[in-house]
Amino acid sequence: MTIKILSEETINKIAAGEVIERPANAVKELVENSIDAKARNIEIEIKASGKELIRVTDDGAGMSREDLTLSVTRHATSKLSNFVDLDRLATLGFRGEALPSIASVSHLLIQSQEKSKMSGWEEKYAGGKLIQSRAWAGKPGTTVEVAGLFFNTPARNKFLKSPVTERHHIVKILEEIALIWNTISFKLVCDGKTILTAPVANTKTERFFDILGMDFSKKLMPVKVSHAKVTIEAYITKTQDSLPNRNMQFLFVNNRPVSFTRAITHSIYDAYRENLPAGRHPGILLYIDIEPSEIDVNIHPTKREVKFSNESQLHDVLYRSIKQALIQPVSISFDIPDKPISVETAKKEYFIKENYPAKETRYSTERSSIRDMEEILKEQAAIDPVFIDETSIRALGQVFNLFIIAQDKDEILIVDQHAAAERIRYEQYKNEWENKKIPVQPLLIPFTMELPRSKMELIRHNIQLLSEAGWNMEEFGKNTVRITQQPNVLGTDTKIQEIVSEIITALELENKLPAPEKIEKIIRAACRASIKANETLSNTEMNELINKLLNCKAPYTCPHGRPTMIKLSRNELSKKFRRT
Ligand code: ADP
Ligand code: MG
Repeated sequence: MTIKILSEETINKIAAGEVIERPANAVKELVENSIDAKARNIEIEIKASGKELIRVTDDGAGMSREDLTLSVTRHATSKLSNFVDLDRLATLGFRGEALPSIASVSHLLIQSQEKSKMSGWEEKYAGGKLIQSRAWAGKPGTTVEVAGLFFNTPARNKFLKSPVTERHHIVKILEEIALIWNTISFKLVCDGKTILTAPVANTKTERFFDILGMDFSKKLMPVKVSHAKVTIEAYITKTQDSLPNRNMQFLFVNNRPVSFTRAITHSIYDAYRENLPAGRHPGILLYIDIEPSEIDVNIHPTKREVKFSNESQLHDVLYRSIKQALIQPVSISFDIPDKPISVETAKKEYFIKENYPAKETRYSTERSSIRDMEEILKEQAAIDPVFIDETSIRALGQVFNLFIIAQDKDEILIVDQHAAAERIRYEQYKNEWENKKIPVQPLLIPFTMELPRSKMELIRHNIQLLSEAGWNMEEFGKNTVRITQQPNVLGTDTKIQEIVSEIITALELENKLPAPEKIEKIIRAACRASIKANETLSNTEMNELINKLLNCKAPYTCPHGRPTMIKLSRNELSKKFRRT
């Protein structure tokens, strides 16, 4: 037998087996490249769970023609020049093997243009071989398109799980990445449908709303500790807000999502121990920033695991700070419920409230949850004209068929009518469900929808939940679902098709949640899909919408965490025009 040096192609294919196990790995590598290239906006498009197509478009630095060619060459990286650098790693990629690996098992198209240039370059590869190279008249930034992933590795292809599972992995990894990079906007479109949007957020908490939802995000309290070599930023649930599973536990080390190490898990559970009932779990987002020389990220090809050189010290710091936070009385943080309003205004309002004598005691004793807080504010609003006097609010008009401009004494309100309508509908629907009284209407002509097997399966599994949410759905042949009844709250001119599709997506993504949380997701999805866009409103309708909105429990954000309104005060305006 003669020893042969493996060809470049074979080496890449072997590496692909390690780095790119499934479509989600490819998505992660491409998005991380965009982040390394300092992109502000990253869009990801997926077809057939990533097997047919993965396209990542960014507005980052782009590549020159020479770099583009090099980028698909094994161990070519702009990020690491010698081994010493590994200790001072600041970028996400460094091995220079993602692009060649992906190229070797797919049809790859890279298009890129540097920021300062008028035109760019594109290259096409098939199974790792360059098949086309030419000028590209695009825009600054980079688009990488991966088609037919694993087309030439049938074994790997077979190993893939169901489309639902593979897609779930993709959504999950993007959620994790979005939870780290809050100042980058992300959008994920799967088979033509937008699954995730995370607009630029100024703070982590703001980003949590978009990714983790309002209810959970509101329960998080921040813990921050800084030591010589490590900075820890954590967002944790209080003991009374524990969860039935570990789905809401995230660990990020130096901006990489990684698996929990045993020592870290141990320190967290130890800190909670006294008060956490058996079988319950805390929710935690743990961001550790540590000197690169203190960890090894190079122990796992997909960098999912890290090794800390001084784990026991980390254990102690974590244990003590979480424990400390759990026994501290919680202060109410205003940037959460009042996100759209400036903190200044929010504080002022709180101040007014706090000085209100009748409720003084409640404030000092019950600073427990933001939910309570909102309720109290509302209660007070009803008796305290200084706060929200609904009758003083007057709609002035509508702009772009999107926003309502209104005046409230000394403030101008700009209301996003779509977000407002969604909030109102969501609270009504949820209320009806909580009171077990959802008014429903039978459909005169039952609506039928053809669905793929996996989705029929989902409906079948959730038929009871759906009926609790006011829907009557039944199987009608192998691939068809028949809808014979829907909740009234969604209106009569409903876009059933869209609503049901949204519901299915919600169920797909949240298949493991306990029933009540699933129903909440159903409600949220249904409301989102049922709201009409760009509607012209009469003055009466505008006023009605604003009043209903202000009567909501959480009037300032839509159920998905977008702001429903922003305020501009007379003072701010005067300042802008330099009247003072
Ligand atoms: P690594 O990220 O480990 O360096 P990759 O194979 O992922 O290796 O990428 C190789 C090189 O290609 C990177 O070092 C970078 O210079 C370039 N590159 C890849 N993707 C992009 C992108 N979206 N924008 C700009 N440059 C990119
Ligand atoms: Mg990379």
